[in-house]
Amino acid sequence: MAAKFNPVPFEALASWLVAKGFEPSVQNREVVYERANHHEAGLVVRVFTSCNTKGVAVRPRAKDAIRVCLVYRADGESHGVAKAKRINRCGTTEAIFSRIYSRMRALYAGANVMAKADRCGCGAPRWQDSGRCVRRCA
Ligand SMILES: [Zn+2]
Repeated sequence: MAAKFNPVPFEALASWLVAKGFEPSVQNREVVYERANHHEAGLVVRVFTSCNTKGVAVRPRAKDAIRVCLVYRADGESHGVAKAKRINRCGTTEAIFSRIYSRMRALYAGANVMAKADRCGCGAPRWQDSGRCVRRCA
């Protein structure tokens, strides 16, 4: 049986993310919460709320999952580093928050590892498995 759709009150999500140390920004009308890694500020965990600043959905139902990813930011550009599984709006709000939390913790832990990783000549970390620069310059 599919879990019941739960729109998740935007205010509740916003204040929960702020309590976890995240700060809001707006990207293409969508409110995105960000938290920089404490070892390396260029590594940023981002949470895409799929809502605008009024709490109104900017993506249609079924595409309105909450997305969590890790980016590397340098010279005003963001480069995708890792993506977590999307968090569908189903089940209790508590259960949804708990899924967001486990995804963001995993990405934050990944950032901790990456902060100590080998560097590319450009100064950015390299992925451990492929050895490629997260900025894709080498
Ligand atoms: Zn590089």
